[in-house]
Amino acid sequence: MHRLTFIVLFIWGIAPLASGAERPNILFIFCDDHATQAISAYGGPLAGLAPTPNIDRIAKEGMLFRKCYVTNSICGPSRAVVLTGKYSHLNGFRNNRDTFDGSQQTVPKLLGAEGYQTAIVGKWHLKSEPTGFDHFEVLKGQGQYYNPRLNSNGKMVSHEGYTTDIITDQSLNWLEQRDPEKPFFLMSQHKAPHGKWEPAFRHFEFLEGVEVPEPPTLFDDYSGRSKAASLHEMGIADHMGEGRLMLEYSSKFTPEQFARFDGFFRPKNEAFLASGLEGKDRTRWHYQRYIKNYLRCVKAVDESVGRLLGYLDDNGLTENTIVIYSSDQGFYLGEHGWFDKRWMYEESFRTPLLVRWPGVVAEGTVNETDLVSNLDFAPTFLEAVSAEIPEDLQGASLVPVFKGKTPEDWRTSHYYHYYESGGHGVPLHFGVTDGRYKLIRFPEKEIDEWELFDVQADPLELESRYGDPALEAIQKGLKAELDRLRRQYELPEGELE
Ligand code: CA
Repeated sequence: MHRLTFIVLFIWGIAPLASGAERPNILFIFCDDHATQAISAYGGPLAGLAPTPNIDRIAKEGMLFRKCYVTNSICGPSRAVVLTGKYSHLNGFRNNRDTFDGSQQTVPKLLGAEGYQTAIVGKWHLKSEPTGFDHFEVLKGQGQYYNPRLNSNGKMVSHEGYTTDIITDQSLNWLEQRDPEKPFFLMSQHKAPHGKWEPAFRHFEFLEGVEVPEPPTLFDDYSGRSKAASLHEMGIADHMGEGRLMLEYSSKFTPEQFARFDGFFRPKNEAFLASGLEGKDRTRWHYQRYIKNYLRCVKAVDESVGRLLGYLDDNGLTENTIVIYSSDQGFYLGEHGWFDKRWMYEESFRTPLLVRWPGVVAEGTVNETDLVSNLDFAPTFLEAVSAEIPEDLQGASLVPVFKGKTPEDWRTSHYYHYYESGGHGVPLHFGVTDGRYKLIRFPEKEIDEWELFDVQADPLELESRYGDPALEAIQKGLKAELDRLRRQYELPEGELE
């Protein structure tokens, strides 16, 4: 062997392994249904009442994204997109009735091949057992807020306590027992703040006696849009049911826990039931009950983030660990009178994204304009560890964006496709946004309508401008872009109109 060739091989083949300890760790903290409206770093009317100082720390020491949009605003499908870097029609998980095909290429498998230790702890929600992780410890289905059972590498283990805390404990346990010589990739994924919102005992008093401000669209009448929104079954007024209102409890409590939980809620429930509240007053009570319990659940998540960041600090890991905070999608906190997700309207289309990477991401930066997506997470993880990005991934690495060097050819439009027709009354729809204008298509024959919003002029999305002559060129351009994206992303022929 020629000496130079040998040296090149040595540098190319051995040097990366020799510097393995320098490759960054990745801590991916992923919540379920956590709206940006409930993260104080994003501002808004809830920020002062319900601050999230630990999540905010990630923004303070890193970058916050205002335009991170999902491809399909619902739990399982979003998780499948994160794992594969592919749209639902290619990863095979279009709606929550599907089962994830764990034999396909995923991020943990690709990172494992790079010498990373990989683990997932908490919410999984993809039906099939996790594959490709060195360690998994996941809730079955949605799991419950108290006393979760975790599938720990194939064995069901019962835990007693509050699930958000237990997911944190188990994440820390895994970090503690890992091989410190190898870099890690940990997905710490909460059930919270997914409904039904059962807070930790220590947060019962949080927001008690406080009147949380109502969103301006709590009593939306859905005029000015297609009929789709009016078909919803996610109304705070009519669809919360006893479980979401905490008139009934979901968790299987121990007798002691039940006494404590019931002791807090029962007197208030009895007073409500005796009050005979009707109409808007009743909706207002529902909203207060909902939003307080939601924010209490968020508070436990924020504390969890604090514990994880504290562990990194205490163990000299802060400098070389990328911390990413996100959620599987956004959520309605009373906007449009709703409590769920699914729609391409901003509150559920948008998801939080906060990233800390010391030395790479400038502290305290806010990315206001770049259209980024959960589709980008997989290629980002790979580029961050200097791994090759397989060509079949459909997203783009955010690493240059993190560095403040967004490529010239960064996407200027984003494609969305929701499949779970009928869930909470939301019809199948797809659409495109350019960051300001948003075109939505409801193709099912009972609706068969389009909507067009100018999110800048109409941030609450109350008036569809579809068919407005003043926006004719915009509408035409977005239709062409929608068609182009559907072909680019390889929508099956049958799903192309
Ligand atoms: Ca979710």
